[in-house]
Amino acid sequence: MSHHYQNQQLMLEDAAVADLADQFGTPLYLYSRAAIEQAYQAFASPLKGRKHLICFAVKANSNLAVLNLLARLGAGFDIVSGGELARVLAAGGDPAKVVFSGVGKTRSEMAQALKAGIHCFNVESVAELDRLNGVAGELGLVAPISIRVNPDVDAKTHPYIATGLKENKFGIDILMAPDAFRKAASLPNLKVLGVDCHIGSQLTETEPFVAALKRLLALREQLQADGIELAHIDIGGGLGVTYTDEQPPKPADYLAEILPLIPAGLTLVLEPGRALVANAGLLVGRVEMTKDNGFKRFVILDTGMNDLMRPTLYQAVMPVLPINQAQQNGPLSDLVGPVCETGDWLAKDVPLGAEEGDLVAIGGAGAYGFVMSSQYNSRPRAAEVMVQGSQAVLIRQRETVESLWAGEQLLPEASC
Ligand SMILES: *Cc1c(COP(=O)(O)O)cnc(C)c1O
Repeated sequence: MSHHYQNQQLMLEDAAVADLADQFGTPLYLYSRAAIEQAYQAFASPLKGRKHLICFAVKANSNLAVLNLLARLGAGFDIVSGGELARVLAAGGDPAKVVFSGVGKTRSEMAQALKAGIHCFNVESVAELDRLNGVAGELGLVAPISIRVNPDVDAKTHPYIATGLKENKFGIDILMAPDAFRKAASLPNLKVLGVDCHIGSQLTETEPFVAALKRLLALREQLQADGIELAHIDIGGGLGVTYTDEQPPKPADYLAEILPLIPAGLTLVLEPGRALVANAGLLVGRVEMTKDNGFKRFVILDTGMNDLMRPTLYQAVMPVLPINQAQQNGPLSDLVGPVCETGDWLAKDVPLGAEEGDLVAIGGAGAYGFVMSSQYNSRPRAAEVMVQGSQAVLIRQRETVESLWAGEQLLPEASC
């Protein structure tokens, strides 16, 4: 982790977070370039000498500078919308390294991706096979596809981020997959490339990944008997990170269990999101005021669920990092935001000595942070800054209040 305390002051790489907050204001998202690079290499190094493609899940953090950094490191991208494809291209990503997931691809998104020449579509239903075959036919193109299989494996994670169970909307049930593959192979404008799955997010054990992979490999053998050869197997993303006391396997340990199972010649595709960026990011806010109602002490920040939804959406526990380390000892407090919702909290019952005017950061905010932020309560979204050493680059301006209503319009006088 690239944040640390130096003389009790919170640092990101060699930059003092307090200085960055003074320079750029709060609320502020900060990312460490070195942390992203190290996280990428943690996946790439064990894969040296193996046919592979690391496709960063863009939905975890889609800032152009983050995508550009990963593209320069050699990453491909896992996208879930036409908007994300446009971002990848604007950031200099290689369309030939893009896989396109998602249960509700529109015809125009399919056409956009076909024209861009993406690596493959991760198809999630039989209806999508027909639609994609039709769109590709109209364009006179052949769509490379993988079928996303739902392996019915329990990822043992929060129900909102478990995706590989029968009851979830994702993928095609593994028992129905052979029929779907036969159908895909018979359609003139589809070319079967592979099989994929993504069983959930923030997994802290290797066992569910291995169970899913084994089911996919058994399916591959079944398909071979039908004359359908797969060029790649994509085991999705989902590797967890340490927010507070979780102990997920390191990428190298995870890959050490996965790689021996992959037959030679088969390309391994991975779709990590969180594991590449979560711990590179901090969300920094300033304490507006504190209050104690005799029952609870509240530390009220200028940032909350509008900037960071994970606590309230997933009951996620994220590390609270006062800018002054001494404040880690203090009265038990709830860290809350200014938004008019009871769900507007960032941490509960944490020791925190911060007072009005002090700065507090939330760690692990590089994934599913800014991308899920909103302007609820007419709060402009935060600025984003990339830190490299002692340098800092503004990679997204703070929104202005005027920009919030830029597309809005008053009713014409006559209609009143
Ligand atoms: C969200 C998602 C990922 C990334 O998940 P992480 O837990 O962030 O690694 C990968 N693939 C698909 C299809 C996804 O929807």
